Amino acid sequence: MAVSKNKGSNKKRSLDFSTDWGYASAPESKDHIQLKNRYDLFINGKFVAPDSGKYFDTINPATEQKLSEVADANANDVDKAVKAARNAYEKVWSKMPAKERSKYIYRIARIMQERARELAVIETMDGGKAIRESRDVDVPLAAAHFFYYAGWADKIDYATPGTKSKSLGVAGQIIPWNFPLLMAAWKIAPALAAGNTVVLKPAETTPLTAMKLAEILQEAELPDGVVNIITGAGATGAAIVNHPDINKIAFTGSTEVGKIIQRALAGTNKKYTLELGGKAANIIFEDAAIDQAVEGIINGIFFNQGHVCCAGSRLFVQENISKTVIRKLKDRMQTLIVGDPLDKNTDIGAINSKEQLSKIKQFIKIGINEGGECFQTECSVPSKGFWCRPTLFTNVSQSSRIVQEEIFGPVLSIQTFRTVEEVIEKANNIPYGLSGGVWTDKGSKIFKVTSQINAGVIWANTYNKFDPTSPFGGYKESGMGREGGLHGLMPYLHLEN
Ligand code: ADP
Repeated sequence: MAVSKNKGSNKKRSLDFSTDWGYASAPESKDHIQLKNRYDLFINGKFVAPDSGKYFDTINPATEQKLSEVADANANDVDKAVKAARNAYEKVWSKMPAKERSKYIYRIARIMQERARELAVIETMDGGKAIRESRDVDVPLAAAHFFYYAGWADKIDYATPGTKSKSLGVAGQIIPWNFPLLMAAWKIAPALAAGNTVVLKPAETTPLTAMKLAEILQEAELPDGVVNIITGAGATGAAIVNHPDINKIAFTGSTEVGKIIQRALAGTNKKYTLELGGKAANIIFEDAAIDQAVEGIINGIFFNQGHVCCAGSRLFVQENISKTVIRKLKDRMQTLIVGDPLDKNTDIGAINSKEQLSKIKQFIKIGINEGGECFQTECSVPSKGFWCRPTLFTNVSQSSRIVQEEIFGPVLSIQTFRTVEEVIEKANNIPYGLSGGVWTDKGSKIFKVTSQINAGVIWANTYNKFDPTSPFGGYKESGMGREGGLHGLMPYLHLEN
């Protein structure tokens, strides 16, 4: 890395990350991947054709080519899956000693590890995320969740001293497209450990790793009906939410759909957890280690194409360092490689769907029309597929729509601040409360700021760090309930005195 300066009076300071050689492409092989032309519903331990007789395509967003087709489950299919889950709950799973349940969950984790490469490649092909992320984050973390909750299964009584805990029954679980396998693990592992059975629906654009997970459940010889996986879009999700024999709903997705679900569940006996949208403040103080903070900003907003509910999408930089930070940030952004998600050099893969790309483009237009100054990197992008170059906006204010609303793409808005009080006020002035980041070398400042920001998770001098032992979830319109850790078991249990 070198600092280059233009000759003459108009000196341009910029960090030059380039080398004399480019990267040779390093594509991950997909030869070993076996995908069926068509996937049926996984009900009662078997793949069965949907009652509707309908299927829909799932495509690779990087090539727009069809990968396979999956069943479109209707209300009858949902009913079949719930009946299978109820039957398995009453006859098998709730009667099984906890330590036996735990063995099945360990077995699932181990098979996931054995099939990690296959799962990572399929996740990348179906969802567009860079292989480095699916290989190093999604799949290992998914297996880690199964390992972690396997450990809890026979120790739950120690976790709830003075009370007796009981499983709830059948859990209906609806997950989004940004971390398909990982979200399935977040949902299924604690539910099974606590003794519940499951009906899970993956998102319509990313069903394939869930179908592979169904194969893993068969391989693990999980008793029939303990986990049922059904595919479909919003109507299928709604049929799960409204099914009268479901005891708990766990939903991760948009705030808009979360509100619909919460209304549908009001007045019913069903327990629920909702993990919804976010618009996190990532705050850089003048005493932060700036180069590390720049890496944290990049990771915060460009990880997984910005399709992350806890993305650090609102950057706050203390005014006296803002010029330096923005200059370094732009230089670093120029080095990001956008393109083939299967290439191990790629930093930013494909946007998950055409719809999501048009939503992101719409927000970029709104930002420009509101007077924001837009900067996009100059990298090349493939001609086919759905792509968005890393983007940032300066000259925005608290009232700008791109500051207030969740974009769910690689688009960062930057504001400056002068005092600690001001940035706390600005960070909290938002309908969401999921996550945040603070960069400073003062421990006391970390404690002051993190304790006053209304968000479920706040990282200090790092960002987007996940671990099965730590609880995750939001306040306000970011939802309710926690997943992960001991907290993540509680929504799957009744506690009795
Ligand atoms: P995203 O912005 O991630 O697409 P959505 O909230 O639209 O978020 O989707 C998340 C999940 O919720 C998906 O599995 C989707 O099929 C499902 N879903 C969409 N609409 C409904 C609904 N009305 N009821 C239940 N689930 C729904």
